[in-house]
Amino acid sequence: MVVLDPGHDLRANSDTEPIGPGSSTLKIKDGGGTRGVVSGLTEAELNLRVALRLEPLLEEAGVRVVMTRSRNAGASMGNIARARIANRAGARLFLRIHADGSADASSRGTHVLYPALRRGWTDDVYGASKRAAWVVQADLVRALGFPDRGIRERSDFTGFNWSDVPVILVEMGFMTNRTDDRLLATTRYQRRAAVGLCRGTLRFLGRKAAACGTP
Ligand SMILES: [Zn+2]
Repeated sequence: MVVLDPGHDLRANSDTEPIGPGSSTLKIKDGGGTRGVVSGLTEAELNLRVALRLEPLLEEAGVRVVMTRSRNAGASMGNIARARIANRAGARLFLRIHADGSADASSRGTHVLYPALRRGWTDDVYGASKRAAWVVQADLVRALGFPDRGIRERSDFTGFNWSDVPVILVEMGFMTNRTDDRLLATTRYQRRAAVGLCRGTLRFLGRKAAACGTP
């Protein structure tokens, strides 16, 4: 069982929620994500398109899939709710699909984020999440051919700190970069991203990635 979490939704959600269990630090549920500088596509829509392509690839490879959402409708549910879906499902991987935005239009490329180590919050998922980040980053970079920005820890992601299952957040590319955005807006690159994510997920699960097909 893998839980796919296409980031954001039709609308942002300015409600707040604790950044981790028992924390008094509150953070906004969802700032709304970024938008394509050339394509005009919202990040929420791009994330969803890739997730909807990835879902059947994984299922055909014999992996059951739960989606945190399967359409763009309404306000974003927030990150505790997303993590709870993965926790309840007992997911072997909670795969969060995003694209990045930057004030620097030249920033481009792919990176994968995973939870920083914090006792009581992420110590139970840290090792597996880091391994998943490595594996999925390699396959996603290979599939998309974008610059490799590596993997990075984050201590400030609510959806990481509430997760009781291995979790990563992929930033496929930068929608604020003309090259990344133009390519990611095409069905060809959305398929490439889905195949790369499928291959990385299967390798992380100890299965043969060939079941995903080729990008
Ligand atoms: Zn995002």
